[in-house]
Amino acid sequence: MDKKISGLHHVTAIATDPQRNLDFYAGLLGLRFVKRTVNFDDPGSYHFYFGDARGTPGTILTFFPWPGARRGSRGTGQIEATAFAIAPSSINYWLERLRKQNVPAEKTSARFGEEAIRFADPDGLLVELIASNSVPSVEHWSDSPVPLEHSLRGFHSVSAALEGYERTASLLTDSFGYRLIDQSGHRFRFASQNDAAKGRIIDLLCLPDGHAGRVAAGSVHHIAFRARDQNEQLEWREHLVGLGYNVTPVIDRTYFHSIYFREPGGVLFEIATDPPGFTLDEQMEELGNSLRLPPWMESARSQIERILPPIKLPGKE
Ligand code: ZN
Repeated sequence: MDKKISGLHHVTAIATDPQRNLDFYAGLLGLRFVKRTVNFDDPGSYHFYFGDARGTPGTILTFFPWPGARRGSRGTGQIEATAFAIAPSSINYWLERLRKQNVPAEKTSARFGEEAIRFADPDGLLVELIASNSVPSVEHWSDSPVPLEHSLRGFHSVSAALEGYERTASLLTDSFGYRLIDQSGHRFRFASQNDAAKGRIIDLLCLPDGHAGRVAAGSVHHIAFRARDQNEQLEWREHLVGLGYNVTPVIDRTYFHSIYFREPGGVLFEIATDPPGFTLDEQMEELGNSLRLPPWMESARSQIERILPPIKLPGKE
C-alpha cells in the first residue's frame, strides 16, 4: 500500500444520559454540537457528534447515548484514554474550570515532555487534555463557552491498552505508514508522517498482565482513521482484506463513508472518508440545532421523534 493514513477522523464512545453527555462536552468542554442524529443501526437512540465549528476530521468525538446502558470496564483490547490538544498556557484554566464544575481532575506527570490533565466524563470515559507545543489550529466555534485561547484543538492522541502490541504496531507501521517516535516503559508512541494532521498520534500500551476490558457505557466503541475519498477507502479495503482482515463492506454514514475491522489487539478500527462532512444537510450556522435523519429514515421521523428523549442545548455562560 503506497497510501498513508494522516491521522484520526473521529472517536466514537458510549454514554448513557443524552442531556448529561451534551452538557459535558458542549457546555463544559466547549466543543460544538455539530450533528444531532440517530444511531443508523438503532434509530430509537441518538448519535451525537461534537467537534470544532465545522466538525473537521481529527476533531470529532461522537457518542451513542444509550439511557440505562450498563457501565463497561477498563482493560485490554480497548482505547484507554482519548486526548485533546490544548495550548501549554491553558493548563491552569482547565484545572480551575473542571474544579468549579466539580469534575475531579489530576495533572499527570509529563508524558514525553508534555503536561497533561486527566479526568473522567459522567459515564467514566477517560479524557485527557495534553499541553502541546505544536497546537493545531481548528475552526473555533464562536458561541463556545470556552474562549479561543483555551479551546480544545482537536485530538492529540488516543492510547490503546493491548495485551501485546507487536501486531498492532505492524499494522500501523507497515500499512498505515506510522512511525515509532518514542517509548517510555510500556508506552510506545506511534505517529503518522503528516506533522500537521490533528490526531496523528497513537500510544500503544503493552499490558501483558492486563485483563480484557468490556466495551459498554464509558468506553470507546471504535476509532476511525481518515481516507481522503471513497477511492482511497476502497484501496484500503482491498489492502486489509489481502492481509487477512475481515472488513465490512462500505457503509454510508451520510456524513462520511465507513469500513470497519478489528485490529489484532481487539480494538474496532474504522476508516472513514473526509467528504462529504456535516454541512451536507445543514448550514454551518445551523449545525446541531435540529434532528437530522438520513433520507431513508425521514418517513419514520414522527415515530423516531416520539421515542427519543428531549434534549436542550446548553446555554452560553
Ligand atoms: Zn465511526
